[in-house]
Amino acid sequence: MTRVLITGVTGQDGSLLATALRGEGHEIHGLCQTGLAIPAPIRELLDGVTLHDGDLADAAGIGELVDAVAPDEVYHLAGQSSVALSWEDPIGTLVSTGLGAGIVFEAAYRLQERRGTPVRVLQASSAEIFGRAEQTPQDEDTPVRPVSPYGVAKATAHQLASVYRQRGLFVACTILYNHESTLRPPSFVTRKITMGAARISVEGGELTLGNLDAGRDWGWAPDYVRAMVLALRHTEPDDFVVATGEVHTVEDFVRVAFARAGIANWQAHVRTDPAFVRPVDAAVQVGDASKARRVLGWAPSVGFDDLVGRMVEHDLALAHLAGDAG
Ligand code: GDP
Repeated sequence: MTRVLITGVTGQDGSLLATALRGEGHEIHGLCQTGLAIPAPIRELLDGVTLHDGDLADAAGIGELVDAVAPDEVYHLAGQSSVALSWEDPIGTLVSTGLGAGIVFEAAYRLQERRGTPVRVLQASSAEIFGRAEQTPQDEDTPVRPVSPYGVAKATAHQLASVYRQRGLFVACTILYNHESTLRPPSFVTRKITMGAARISVEGGELTLGNLDAGRDWGWAPDYVRAMVLALRHTEPDDFVVATGEVHTVEDFVRVAFARAGIANWQAHVRTDPAFVRPVDAAVQVGDASKARRVLGWAPSVGFDDLVGRMVEHDLALAHLAGDAG
């Protein structure tokens, strides 16, 4: 039986990954941020996972935890994960998402040295490391040139992964484009839109957003978690862009979501406010996942309309429940 440690196990990807790996019969340990309240839908997915509290900035504490769990595989997903929130807390984001990765790699490397058997690590890298890329679509060779605090933190982690790989630790990186599900918090535009459309369809009102022209490559999170597992189990540690290759604007997402919620004239319900526009934002992010397709045999299984539909259906059910309760 493989012993797995998932950092960030209480997030969207961590809980989906725990579910997938538990189904294969592995022993799953999860690191969760000390004091964090775990939302009920996520807690349900973590049944059977041994949870450990910890602080990513605490190098000694993380080292002790990694030694105590002694995992064969580490999926490093923890850290502040929202670009929007990284503008409100740049330093906290750099510490948890950037430095935290170095602390986890170092702990895994020391365990490997001490124990004498390999530890495999998966780093959840991000499209945000490319910033405003001149090349479209981006691939594994696109220059790393972030434009947000989150991007800088993820770029640091990505480059540290490469350093530890050269040092002899198996660190695979999945460069993940936006990936969504009903577990996304509303700090991400997708869930903000699907929750907003569902609420408006039940009780009317409006939704306030930022830049509607931004183009993103949105995929279905369980597909992306599958890519992480394939990358960690591949013969060599390597970098893989994980993306659908399709770009849609925020406005496209709004139009499809409102139509799915039965609202024809979305324009009557959506307003924009500069407060939600970022100081710097990549205009278009779209990935070329041909290496992951070729080397890992990975392909996305859920298209854009289906993804939006699944999220809207879920949020409509929640909005009707809330309406009935009220
Ligand atoms: P990101 O691509 O990782 O930053 O994911 P987000 O879901 O946070 O944002 C996707 C895009 O939506 C970005 O270009 C944002 O500028 C844009 N956007 C427009 N309005 C909003 C909003 O109200 N909230 C968020 N989070 N993003 C918004």
